[in-house]
Order: sequence, then C-alpha cells, then structure tokens
Amino acid sequence: MSVLSKPYFHDEQAAFTFVEGIIWANGPVCPHCGGVERITAIKPNPEKRVRFGLKKCGQCKGQFTVRMGTIFEESKLPMTKWLQAIFLMCSSKKGVSAHQLGRTLEVTYKTAWFLAHRIREAMRTGELAPFGGQGGAVEADEAYIGRKKNLGPHRSGGAAHKMKVLTLIDRETGRAHTTVVDRMNQVTVAAILTANVAKEARLMTDESPLYKKVGKEFAGHDAVHHARDEYVRYSDLTITTNTVEGYFSIFKRGMKGVYQHCAEKHLHRYMAEYDFRYSNRVALGIDDVERAEIALKGVVGKRLTYQRAGERPQA
Ligand SMILES: [Zn+2]
Repeated sequence: MSVLSKPYFHDEQAAFTFVEGIIWANGPVCPHCGGVERITAIKPNPEKRVRFGLKKCGQCKGQFTVRMGTIFEESKLPMTKWLQAIFLMCSSKKGVSAHQLGRTLEVTYKTAWFLAHRIREAMRTGELAPFGGQGGAVEADEAYIGRKKNLGPHRSGGAAHKMKVLTLIDRETGRAHTTVVDRMNQVTVAAILTANVAKEARLMTDESPLYKKVGKEFAGHDAVHHARDEYVRYSDLTITTNTVEGYFSIFKRGMKGVYQHCAEKHLHRYMAEYDFRYSNRVALGIDDVERAEIALKGVVGKRLTYQRAGERPQA
C-alpha cells in the first residue's frame, strides 16, 4: 500500500464518495434550493449517461452533484484526476509545473494549466484572523522576483522592473500571508500591515525604512540589521526575520525551478499556493494527505473561468 493506491485516486465512485464526505460533512445540501431533506442518490449508469454522484432533491426535484458551485463545476475531468492533481500540488514543496502535471495526469498542457490555477484558488484562504493577535511575534519582509513584462530594454539595478511581494509570518501559528505589491513603499506596506497584523503584535523586520513609521503602531517593533550581518539579536534571540527568510528560500527555489515564466497577473495565485503549503506544513503536524484534504475543503464557492484566469495558458 502507498498513498497513491487509495481507491479515490482510481475509482470514480470512490472519488465522489470521498469528496462528498469532505464538502458535505453534515450531509448533502441541494445547491438549487438549499434543502437538506429527502435527498436521494441516483444510481450512476454510464450507458444511459447517468453521472457519478448524481443526487435528486425531494423538495425542488432538482438534480445536482457535489461538483456544483465548486472549482470542479465546469470541468469534464474525472474526479479521480482532480484528486490526483490536488494531491500532487499539495505534496510537492516547491510546486508542480503545468507540463509535469499534464504528463502525469495524461491531459493536455492547457487542461493542466487551468486545473492548477483552479487548485490554487482552492488553496487561497479567505479572511484570516489578524496575525500576532495574542501579542505574538510577526515577521514581515519583502521579496523581489523575476521581471515584469513590457518594460522595454533591460535597465540595470534597482527593483523597478521586478515583481514584488510582501510576506507576513505569524510565528505562533506558523501561518504565512503574502500580498503582491505594485509599488513597494511606506504607504502600501503600512496598509498591508495594519490590515493583517494585530496591534498587540511584536513586529520583526530588517532595517528597511519601509517599516519604521508603521512599526510604531504595534506593541513592539524590532529590526535586525542585515547590512551589518546581524540576523539574530544575541541579547534577545526572538529578534530575527529568519522564519520569513526561510519561507522566501522555498518560494524562490520553486519560482526558479518550477514556475520560471510566471506572469505578474497570476503571481497572487502562485503566492496563495506557497502560503497554503507553508501554513499547513509538516512542521505544524500536517501530513501530505491531510494537507490535500484541507485544500479540498477550499474548493467550494471558488469557480474560476478561463476569462478570469487569463485566456492564454502561461506557466
Ligand atoms: Zn432542492
């Protein structure tokens, strides 16, 4: 036995039963009328084109499957392949390229690309409680990656032509939250920090002037001086940004090795993917199978059409 021999990766009925158990943990809900009573299963019959997982609502007589209202809705792919794709993306620390996904699942590159973006949507967390709410430490740092498109001839130096992200790590819960930033300046950084970090938090940054002013809004703000080779304050070992640096090292290796040609308009979804895996990592007691189940819970209410995903497949 291996994880990959689980029936829901191979048997369509088992896949539906598994997904239903997660999405409808308290029993099926009719997406047409919201009814929960007298819902009956219709026996699948491929010859008569009766789909797997088909249900009939006793109240409105409507038919539905667990796919409705989820990222699976407009897809013709078998549920088994969706579950394989979710597992691959959840268990690979640096991500899986659309080319690799396409080869493994035996689907076209375009299908794999779209599949991966919809899974990233499922990984995207909605409203998070502010980081550092119990007075804990929150690390903040920026990263500059790749190169924006259509900027004309390459200009040397500076970060103007790079894509920019700001990442926050709540050291108590281990969660990461990344925002893609158009202009990295004190105003945008302050807006992100005040929206996502509790006043009681102790903010940890490097010496960058971006954080000086907004840092005063929190219970504490300590900065290590990277330019002077200070990574941990020896008088207080909690003063460091090594956690967020560790996050960036995974993300940068992934972006370089797996998602080389990520367009800026899709970057927020890649960041959601890295945030998700990091926030649900093994060090926090979450194994690959559990991580995939957590992602599966996020499929509801996140349909993503080709148009919203950007019509031409990239990266
Ligand atoms: Zn109904």
